[in-house]
Amino acid sequence: MVKKSGPSAIGRRLFRNISRLYTLQGAMAKAGRRVQKEDLSLIENAAMIANGGRIEWVGREVDLAQERKGDSHAATDGAIDETIDLQGATVLPAFLECHTHLIYAGNRSAEFERRLAGESYQSIAESGGGILATVLPTRAAAMTELVAIGQKRVNRFLRQGVTTIEAKSGYGLTLESELNLLRAAGRLQSARVVPTFLGAHALPPEAESAHAYLMMLESQALPAVARESLAKRVDIFIEHGYFSADLARPFLHAAQNLGFDLVIHADQLTRSGGALLAVELGARSAEHLLQIEEAEISALAASEVTCVLLPSADLYMQCKYPPARALIDRGARVALATDLNPGTSPSQDLALVGVLARLKMQMSFAETLAAYTVGAAFALGLEKDLGALTPGRYCDFTVLTGSIDEIFLEVGQMPVAQVFCEAEQVWSL
Ligand SMILES: [Zn+2]
Repeated sequence: MVKKSGPSAIGRRLFRNISRLYTLQGAMAKAGRRVQKEDLSLIENAAMIANGGRIEWVGREVDLAQERKGDSHAATDGAIDETIDLQGATVLPAFLECHTHLIYAGNRSAEFERRLAGESYQSIAESGGGILATVLPTRAAAMTELVAIGQKRVNRFLRQGVTTIEAKSGYGLTLESELNLLRAAGRLQSARVVPTFLGAHALPPEAESAHAYLMMLESQALPAVARESLAKRVDIFIEHGYFSADLARPFLHAAQNLGFDLVIHADQLTRSGGALLAVELGARSAEHLLQIEEAEISALAASEVTCVLLPSADLYMQCKYPPARALIDRGARVALATDLNPGTSPSQDLALVGVLARLKMQMSFAETLAAYTVGAAFALGLEKDLGALTPGRYCDFTVLTGSIDEIFLEVGQMPVAQVFCEAEQVWSL
């Protein structure tokens, strides 16, 4: 996890005059499962105190005044260094964008047109398109260019209320270019960036076989990533024509033995065993999940694996959507993300994701909001630090321009006025 500004420069900050503060405490208490509207945990006429970037106290402003007067509450005893009047606004936890292929060069507009003409993603990939069409320009890009590209995308997420962004490697596919993508992620600023090693995104053209390539990743790349502390998470694309579940298993075991958390691109194009492997190995999350059936749904629901659903990729791919309703009703924890990538989801639009979740996956507003906060925090292993506005967690929040029901409504438009990360303003209108 990389955060540049550092939390300790600011002292105790009081945020007051918040007409509606949704803490998501209830959704967090349920670990993001079967979230109801009341789990958004509304406090009216609220205030919040942050100390060193973390929340110290949150509640009704009237209670704060009484407690401070009586000097009876340890958490509110100390002096306030700065008071920020939020002028009657609505406040929410900041969003977490838990699945992005943030850093890549070039674009794949020609492929988009080919898909519209009826060609399949797999056929395009077999003729040198797909992931490999992004690998060549990404390998050729200088570090400064990669950082500039990534920073532009970070800024686009920030202004939508996102303070934590996952960034996968996976468009280098050589040892050195994969490490470079993670190093570039480490240089991004203003948001908290969570790097994920996705060397097993596709087979590079020079590889002898999937097995030989995974052996190289296991013997050289994973130790190098660990040594340089470039990432704490390892992801793999388990799919027909990419990496099978059987090949992935020993590679993921090796990653676990080095202390990495696991993430699996699972059952996107075919029912390829990714979700069941995620459960078997205790992965942090399983992503996509379009092709899963009853066996996978019940296994996921009974597990700690977070189901990361990526409906804008499903829209671009013109395929079906994952069975969100069944997953949620059975008690699985769901997260949402854009899957920003040049081929199957060239979009950073959180509103689009939310609208598709509601329209195409029958998720309620509360489920959608919890998926982009609590669920996403679990997916990233940051549930103790983020996802809800409760004491002890980072003071990462979004100030809306209007009411809460304006989010996940208008594609291309998130009604965000200000964004705070660790109690510091990182973006404003
Ligand atoms: Zn992805």
